Amino acid sequence: MMKKAVGVDLGGTYIKAGLTDDKGNVLKKEQFPTMAEKNSRDAVLRQIEKAIDFAIKGCADEIAGIGIGTPGVVDDKGVVFAAPNLPEWNNLPLKKIIADKYRLPVVVENDVNTITWGEFLFGAGKGYSTIICITLGTGLGGGIVKDKKLMRGGKYSAVEIGHITIDYKGPRCKCGNYGCIERFVGRDYIVERAVNAIKNGKKTAISELVNGKLEDITPKIISDAYKQGDKVATEIWIDVGVCLGALFAGLVNLINPELIIIGGGVSQRAEIMFETVEATIKQRAMKILAENVRVVPAGLGANTGVVSAGALVFQK
Ligand SMILES: [Zn+2]
Repeated sequence: MMKKAVGVDLGGTYIKAGLTDDKGNVLKKEQFPTMAEKNSRDAVLRQIEKAIDFAIKGCADEIAGIGIGTPGVVDDKGVVFAAPNLPEWNNLPLKKIIADKYRLPVVVENDVNTITWGEFLFGAGKGYSTIICITLGTGLGGGIVKDKKLMRGGKYSAVEIGHITIDYKGPRCKCGNYGCIERFVGRDYIVERAVNAIKNGKKTAISELVNGKLEDITPKIISDAYKQGDKVATEIWIDVGVCLGALFAGLVNLINPELIIIGGGVSQRAEIMFETVEATIKQRAMKILAENVRVVPAGLGANTGVVSAGALVFQK
């Protein structure tokens, strides 16, 4: 039985690739530099092929297919558009290029949609049927599985949760819109809250932890201060939780999920944020729709990108 998949997690700096099985185990894994700095689409494509070759080596007969999670918007033919940080990664028929070369089924999907599918199949979302998953990092990415199916748009991958407006009079976002959730909870904007608090003369352990060097503040430092009981740090995570809770209240009203998963490096260590998100949803969403929703951290850990990309192959 062909129950192995090649999973390729395409990032701006590294391509992580591996061989996975239909239980979500990683059988082997390696990372390759993306070579985005060469500023050529072909250089990156060659690195992807190198990564796939590594995964396939020695087991070509057992491969059910290749799953690729990529930044950007992906259409229903596996063509990638508007990927940030990758050269000429626009209007790129990635699925066709890889399928023609390897003669295997290929699934190409937006990277956070991919992680959402992986969490649903093998991670925190296992056993549920309708979930929302976000990753908090530089930006906010999101995906939805509804009735056990990965949600996509009419033609394109969609579910750009990070660019949903939570404040219509809010500050301008990189996407051109105003008051997007990402503009409040993206990495730099969480850090900005701490910098502003310190500049406004608030006493906080955050400034001690970076010896007064405000440019060294990271979300992790703010989490460390929170663990020490620091008031400013606690207020920051509560406010981030309220922003996310307000967003999710809308999404809970829209699709009535059973589970909301928050992944990504930024949030994992601040329990108060998770508690606030859940409390805010219960306050703001329609009571009956919010009744049973739980907010939990992601379950897949360090291999999430590769496991999830492999999971794309096991979609049916
Ligand atoms: Zn935006």
